[in-house]
Amino acid sequence: MKLNVLEILKHLPRTNCKECGEPTCMAFASKLLKKETTLQACPPLFTPEYESKRRDIQELMAGIAA
Ligand code: SF4
Repeated sequence: MKLNVLEILKHLPRTNCKECGEPTCMAFASKLLKKETTLQACPPLFTPEYESKRRDIQELMAGIAA
């Protein structure tokens, strides 16, 4: 399956908190896919609440890097 923005978005917090500097999680997902940013730019993903989602995205990203 080809990874797309919606697939990444599914695993983001989807709170549009803007901590990453993007206006929405969708915008962040788009940049992530184009490798214009990194997961580290989304602080909420590194909280225990979203740990499993972060792992999911890391697996997805590892898939496209290969
Ligand atoms: S920091 Fe994370 S949760 Fe907040 S808007 Fe950016 S991608 Fe979404």
